[in-house]
Amino acid sequence: MMGAHHAMTGAAAWVAVTATAGHGLGLFPVTPVGTIAGALLCAGAALLADADHNSATISQSVPVLGRLVTTGISRASGGHRHGLHSLLGLFSAWLLATVIGRVLWEPVWVTEPLRVGPALLSAAAIAFAAKALGLSNKSWGVAWLIGFSVAAFIAVFAPEQQSWFVVCFTLGYGVHLLGDLLTTGGLPLLWPWIPKPPRWWRKVPVLDNVWSSGGYLAVPLLGNAGSLREWLLLIPVTVYVGYGILFALLETWHVNLESVLMDIAAALPL
Ligand SMILES: [Zn+2]
Repeated sequence: MMGAHHAMTGAAAWVAVTATAGHGLGLFPVTPVGTIAGALLCAGAALLADADHNSATISQSVPVLGRLVTTGISRASGGHRHGLHSLLGLFSAWLLATVIGRVLWEPVWVTEPLRVGPALLSAAAIAFAAKALGLSNKSWGVAWLIGFSVAAFIAVFAPEQQSWFVVCFTLGYGVHLLGDLLTTGGLPLLWPWIPKPPRWWRKVPVLDNVWSSGGYLAVPLLGNAGSLREWLLLIPVTVYVGYGILFALLETWHVNLESVLMDIAAALPL
C-alpha cells in the first residue's frame, strides 16, 4: 500500500473506533477533540512500519538523520517488509508507545508533570502523516511545524490523551500491517520464523497467493500495492475520514457554543 493510503486508513480506523455518533462504532470512545487529534496521530503511526524502507516518507523526514535511522532500522529488522511487518513488530510498537508514554518532565515551575514523551512521539508521527497526506506543501519544515503545533494542541486541549495514546499508536501500526496484508506482497507475520509452504501447495494458484513460496502471508484482495482497486478503496475511506472529522468538529463547537450561551445566560441580571 502507498504511504498516503496507509495514513488515510489509519485515520479512518481511529475515527471508526472512537467516534460514538452515527458514523463511528464507539468501541473506544474519546472526546471529539480526541477523535480529531488522534486521527492525525493514528495516520502517522500507520506510516511507521515502513521505516524499514530507505525511500519511505520517514527517511526523508530529517536531512541525513532520517536516512541514517531508517537504514539502521532496516538492517536491524532484516530489511523492508521483514521484522517491522510482523506481529513482533506490532508488539514492539506497543512496547515503544507504552515506554515513551511514561516519559515525563517535572520542571520546578509547573505543578503538573509535562508529558514530553507522548508529545514528541505525537509530533513526529503527525509530521510524517502531514507529509504523506500532502498537507505540508511538500516541505518538511511545514510538516514538522504541523506536527509540533498539533502535539501542543493535544497537550493543552486533550490532556486525557494519556488514556488513549498507546491504543491510538498501536492501532495505527496494526492498520498498516492489515493494509499490506491485503496486497500481493504479503507479510512475514511470524517473523523471525518464516515457515515455507510444502511443494504441492505452491502449485495451487490461489493457495500460492495466500502463502507464497517465500513464506509470506497475504489476503491479496487489493492486488499489487498502488493498484486501481487500492485507489478505489481509498475514495470511500477518505470520504469517511472527512465526514468523521467534520462531525467531531461540529460536536466540539456545539458543546462550546452551548456552554458559552449558558455562561451568558447565567451572567444576565434576570
Ligand atoms: Zn509496509
